[in-house]
Amino acid sequence: MSLSEILDRIEEAADRAGRNVNGIRLIAVSKVQPNERVAAVLAEGHKVFGENRVQEAAGKWPDFKSRYEDIELHLLGPLQTNKARQAMELFDVIHTLDRPKLANRLATLRGELGHCPDLFIQVNTGKEPQKAGIMPEDLEAFAKQCRDLGLPVIGLMCLPPVDEEPTLHFALLAKLAKELDLPELSMGMSGDFEKAIMQGATQIRVGSAIFGERPSH
Ligand SMILES: *Cc1c(COP(=O)(O)O)cnc(C)c1O
Repeated sequence: MSLSEILDRIEEAADRAGRNVNGIRLIAVSKVQPNERVAAVLAEGHKVFGENRVQEAAGKWPDFKSRYEDIELHLLGPLQTNKARQAMELFDVIHTLDRPKLANRLATLRGELGHCPDLFIQVNTGKEPQKAGIMPEDLEAFAKQCRDLGLPVIGLMCLPPVDEEPTLHFALLAKLAKELDLPELSMGMSGDFEKAIMQGATQIRVGSAIFGERPSH
């Protein structure tokens, strides 16, 4: 599917939800995609991209950034504390603030670097033991800790369990964000972004529907 078809579907979903399409940001998830596919989407004028790994992004984005202006880069995968400095230098937004140790590290680095990417707290809405994210019942205390550290948390992010109806998780994330007075919701991927828009997503993360299936390595 092409970028323009995805943009059409976003607009239709926004219409159905009675929302302004300008309130929905499309993050094109370029992880593991061949550079020529990424270059094609850049050539169509898209500026907002997401990556899962700091190392991979550091390998490919400095070159694209030197060739295209105003690129906005989002980190969508788990962040190790020893990669936090590199991530803060490379990314404009980090979607995976998921534990107190990382919050402390980002706060320290914010002091050193004098800036910090916008942050999403990742919430484990399905309470899956193997999945990253703050448990819903721990969220209020963690959000307060982040606020006290002076971190620029703008919203919540979730990755629903693969075998459950995503709408329930999107609705829960929206409710939690409202309670905390956080304006942004990072939710929805290739298979469910229209449902996410219906529940109030402000940032959707779409990979394979734009670029094609990811090559397996
Ligand atoms: C890979 C990934 C996406 C995009 O997934 P698609 O199904 O290809 O759209 C979105 N969010 C996160 C966190 C991802 O890891």
